[in-house]
Amino acid sequence: MMQMIVGNWKMNGLGAASRDLVTEVAQGLAAMPSPPQIVICPPFTLLAQLAPMLKGTGILLGAQDCHQSVSGAHTGDISAAMLADVGVEYVILGHSERRRDHGELDETVREKATAAAAAGLTPIVCVGESEDQRASGECQDAIGWQIKGSLPDGFSGIVAYEPIWAIGSGVPASSQDIADMMAFIRAELVRQFGATGKTIRILYGGSVNARDAATILPIAEVGGALVGSASLRADTFLPIVRAA
Ligand code: PGA
Repeated sequence: MMQMIVGNWKMNGLGAASRDLVTEVAQGLAAMPSPPQIVICPPFTLLAQLAPMLKGTGILLGAQDCHQSVSGAHTGDISAAMLADVGVEYVILGHSERRRDHGELDETVREKATAAAAAGLTPIVCVGESEDQRASGECQDAIGWQIKGSLPDGFSGIVAYEPIWAIGSGVPASSQDIADMMAFIRAELVRQFGATGKTIRILYGGSVNARDAATILPIAEVGGALVGSASLRADTFLPIVRAA
């Protein structure tokens, strides 16, 4: 399977600089003989203006959240159909920052994944253990529960394993920790979804940089990377793309 590199811009990016970033990334990609699949996930405010720029570049557009309802009285929220309407194809759901800042529970994430799929989007559902859960040896339990709770029946999207303690720390999880967790997640997916569970792409996220990407991406079951801060500049994002 071709690797996938997803850039999660989080709450960063104003118009002019973001257009420049997309232009630079597209140029870098055009110069690569066999680039991986690239998805960029800017904030909602940039989606409509970046969508036309991405046509023909091979870069696909993702969002960072959607509401679980189709429409209605949900002030400040954005539905999956609204995202699809402006050219979005992927949506990150259940990122640990949303679970933390917005109290999103597994059940909410599951409803969002259902809504996203119904609108034709591919959900990228994030799971990850906290530092405390890892320290107390509960990390597989935590991930197992999140997978069970956050993925709806018939799920056919993407799972991103993002240990919370590695996000934004500058240091990714070790290759051994990633390999162990990938094998565990794959087994859980197969247990939950049967044959489909074998085909679900699993990304690693948490302080992915150019140097470590070359070690992380070849690990068994790693289908790509979810990249936060390093996706905000072409000179840090493109080397990760080249490593894929
Ligand atoms: P980071 O973020 O690469 O800045 O650690 C990854 C993420 O939270 O998706």
